[in-house]
Amino acid sequence: RAKQQGRKTFAFYSTEIMASSVERVLIERGLRAALSAQQLELYYQPQVDMVTGRIVGMEALLRWHHPERGLVQPDSFIGVAEETGLISEIGEWVIQQGCRQARLWREQGFNLGYLWVNVSPRQILHNGIEDAIAQAMHENQLPGGAIKLGIEITESLLQSMPQSIEVLGKLRALGVRIAIDDFGTGFSSLGLLKQLPIDVIKIDKMFVRHLAVDGDSQAITAAMISMTHTLGMGVVAEGVETAEQLEFLRMQSCDVVQGYLFGAPLCPAEATQLLVKHRLGWPDPPSAEFSPP
Ligand code: C2E
Ligand code: MG
Ligand code: MG
Ligand code: MG
Repeated sequence: RAKQQGRKTFAFYSTEIMASSVERVLIERGLRAALSAQQLELYYQPQVDMVTGRIVGMEALLRWHHPERGLVQPDSFIGVAEETGLISEIGEWVIQQGCRQARLWREQGFNLGYLWVNVSPRQILHNGIEDAIAQAMHENQLPGGAIKLGIEITESLLQSMPQSIEVLGKLRALGVRIAIDDFGTGFSSLGLLKQLPIDVIKIDKMFVRHLAVDGDSQAITAAMISMTHTLGMGVVAEGVETAEQLEFLRMQSCDVVQGYLFGAPLCPAEATQLLVKHRLGWPDPPSAEFSPP
């Protein structure tokens, strides 16, 4: 009987592994076509200043309009893109497209501070990233403009320290702001981060999620905010969904908040509409009574 069960288990696993590798091949093939077929699009999510209640940034989040599967979220394809090296090409497109949108918004008179793009650690170590970013900024007249470029990178970057320090230093010299994304989920300490030229820490949404009810999440979040400030960096909380979470973050002097409470990632036309609405008036400052648009 045990033998039978063992066999069944084996069959089950091998089918699953097969399916996932087939799936990977399909994703890889699809992604190669997606770039040239213009199936990729950047959505934008607002970042709101805690004190003024103003939109001070937009984060660009990648979407794939798959011909059969519809709108595909990045978590199901960024990993494959990183493994296959396709991330370099996709990442360059993201940087160019983000800079183009920043230019458009600037031309329309929107004074939002920063346009943030996500950059995979692998892209940072790829030769020529500084040139690609510098060129995209120059083509869209971003240096010194009303909208500046920021990049978000996860903590796994810290595994390749000396190289990262050099590249990030060059990017910073171009006026690019650097944020560490999903902070608290990796293995790094703020002490280690201090060696990198970093401007902003983004607290991962897993800490924000239970802020209203979980003492540990509260203690960790409060500590991350105060340590970040001590090190002279700014702090953004991601995944803010409720007034209670916002209130806690406000009391801890978090600088900027981002999450469904203020708006989900929006397609470019909707994101522009949000900026128009925002210019006409926005609840100020954010409070427990804050009502999302
Ligand atoms: P991330 O950079 O940490 O982005 C935050 C994710 O949280 C986004 O998921 C966003 O839609 C989601 N989110 C925002 N507000 C809330 C909220 O209030 N509650 C909850 N539960 N979720 C919220 P998304 O767009 O699916 O992106 C997932 C991840 O994919 C990103 O995490 C980022 O690591 C990666 N990614 C997205 N675009 C790019 C890109 O252009 N390049 C690279 N290399 N990675 C990207
Ligand atoms: Mg991000
Ligand atoms: Mg994040
Ligand atoms: Mg993330």
